[in-house]
Amino acid sequence: MTRPAEQPATRLKGVGPALAERLEKLGIRQVGDLLLHLPIRYEDRSRLVPLAQLRVGSAVLVEGRIQQSRLSYGRRRSLVVVIGDGQGLLGLRFFHFSAAQQAGLSDGRLVRAFGEIRPGSGGLEMVHPEYRCFDSDPPPPEPGLTPVYGTTRGLTQERLRRLTAQLAELAWPQGPGSPYADLLLLHRPGPTNSIAEIEATRERLALDELTAYHLIMRHRQSSRDRLRTIPLPRARQLGRKLLEGLGFELTGAQRRVVREVLEDLEQSRPMLRLLQGDVGSGKTVIAAFAAVRAAEHGAQTALMAPTEILAEQHYVNFSAWLAPLGIRVVLLTGGMTARAQAQTCAEIAAGEALVAVGTHALFQKSVSFARLALNIIDEQHRFGVHQRMALRDKGSLPHQLIMTATPIPRTLTMALYADMAVSVIDELPRGRQPIDTRVVPETRRDDVIAGLRQALARGTQAYWVCPLIEDPDQPGLAAAETTMEMLRSSLPGFAVDLLHGRMTNARKAEVMAAFKSGATHLLVATTVIEVGVDVPNATVMVIENPERMGLAQLHQLRGRVGRGTERSACILLYQPPLGAMAQARLATIRDSQDGFYIAERDLELRGPGELLGTRQTGELGFRIADLALHAHLVPDAIRRGDRLLAEHPAEAAALLEAWAPAETGTLTV
Ligand code: ADP
Ligand code: MG
Repeated sequence: MTRPAEQPATRLKGVGPALAERLEKLGIRQVGDLLLHLPIRYEDRSRLVPLAQLRVGSAVLVEGRIQQSRLSYGRRRSLVVVIGDGQGLLGLRFFHFSAAQQAGLSDGRLVRAFGEIRPGSGGLEMVHPEYRCFDSDPPPPEPGLTPVYGTTRGLTQERLRRLTAQLAELAWPQGPGSPYADLLLLHRPGPTNSIAEIEATRERLALDELTAYHLIMRHRQSSRDRLRTIPLPRARQLGRKLLEGLGFELTGAQRRVVREVLEDLEQSRPMLRLLQGDVGSGKTVIAAFAAVRAAEHGAQTALMAPTEILAEQHYVNFSAWLAPLGIRVVLLTGGMTARAQAQTCAEIAAGEALVAVGTHALFQKSVSFARLALNIIDEQHRFGVHQRMALRDKGSLPHQLIMTATPIPRTLTMALYADMAVSVIDELPRGRQPIDTRVVPETRRDDVIAGLRQALARGTQAYWVCPLIEDPDQPGLAAAETTMEMLRSSLPGFAVDLLHGRMTNARKAEVMAAFKSGATHLLVATTVIEVGVDVPNATVMVIENPERMGLAQLHQLRGRVGRGTERSACILLYQPPLGAMAQARLATIRDSQDGFYIAERDLELRGPGELLGTRQTGELGFRIADLALHAHLVPDAIRRGDRLLAEHPAEAAALLEAWAPAETGTLTV
């Protein structure tokens, strides 16, 4: 017999094709999916609250006889039904109602309703309560807390509740590690279960799920240990030449990380290493050392960047660093002509090009490498899940170095990247000056421009970042084109140019080159410059509407300045008034330049979806664990998972069986 979890949802009473389709929208195909579709909150409908004791804002169950039912013609027509219980009165207001509904709500009938109490024009009211009328004595209220589910159009809470009520009747496996009793309790709390107990149950389940996830990561790690790839031991001392040609000394952190990466590359087991380093910490050069090591063996490196601007910049840097060592570097982006692409592909296929820098164009099927030994992915958080997978599967499983400037809090790293080795560059190159960050209201724009004029006159360059290119629908937001016009006229004598994502690649490259060379003084840009752009002479950045951006994004943007030895400034030009949350967020950016601290705060203020991009949290596919709430459980989950593997393999297997049945078959515990 198939296990209950794997049976189709249509096995449940009342689920026909139409309902099945709606359930599918919630990701519910099998009974197990419904079991994991947990309530988002609970309501207390176990107790009738007397009408004289209602408080605004609370959601309560009430009962009373209809005293009056009338149409009200305020700003919108509505049906108002006043009920009374002898001590108090309450209005039930409906903006949408059928004739049958109106007729049913007739004077004298007994109504039981559930909803939130709000202040109304003539006293307290409930708007669109859930209600039922009774002509005889009503049954006692339902004991226990009532679950409220996330749902979709055309699927009522009541219908979902009737479905989840059926779950308790199925034959769920029991035993150590079995989560079913806990899951059923979350769907149908008993009369004595308090919210605190429900929360504790949920936390216990989250710990189970995180533990199961850790077990999967462990498994992936050990299966990778059995794979083989091209080992890249020390060969021709080209790394030393690279070091001599750099023109700067590596920081201690960079030296340490280069060593970690090169040691991994020496193994025949493919490397899978995450390199975390704050903006400007100097990750690119680490990639260069790795590519040089591969080149010493005549093996190829693919370096993938998320934008064409960044790919081109890497191409320029890598060419400057590696060409003197006799290593041929090529660029491949979607923006190149078909002919140029074909030419480059031919060089890659022939193995003449040892380093191929590009965008995701590098991973099209038409590109085949002669001897690919190393994949480097820059700004990994900017790529989708698919691309990450495609990279893993390309060619003969090369070594992989994944670089990210999103400083992911440690607990999250442990959860997200448990199957990878992690290197951290936790030191900025010497001589970097702190960035003076100010939060300034838009009303002081003229002062900001005056300050900018002085800075430009001193010979520094600047960025002015706007959230949009041009959008008549969002008039309050700064748009790059208008802003550029405005700045051109208020800054005569300075070259002001524009960069945005909808320009052709050739034009973007031209604009960047002019800015890099110093010909352009002020670059007005959308957030396309968020990643990677490196112009050390640019020391002022103005960011418009920072209140609309994420902290991680602001931190990345600001990282475009403060790259030289000059003191830099960043002005957050906000649109007043600011809400309390926005104030707290901008203050975080103003007061800290530590990407890790900012990420922790961002996690606290907004949750991991925002921080990592929903795609990444989606990739994890946690059903219960919520990393914003449960990050503190991660260390426990790791300890517990390792202990189960070592001492209680049957329990580890049961956990996986419950949480990740698809992985169970492949796991050897
Ligand atoms: P990110 O980690 O943000 O990718 P980059 O690799 O772009 O940082 O480095 C930022 C700038 O710092 C570049 O101009 C780079 O050449 C320079 N740089 C990197 N390492 C050092 C160092 N050890 N000393 C001085 N400058 C460095
Ligand atoms: Mg970078």
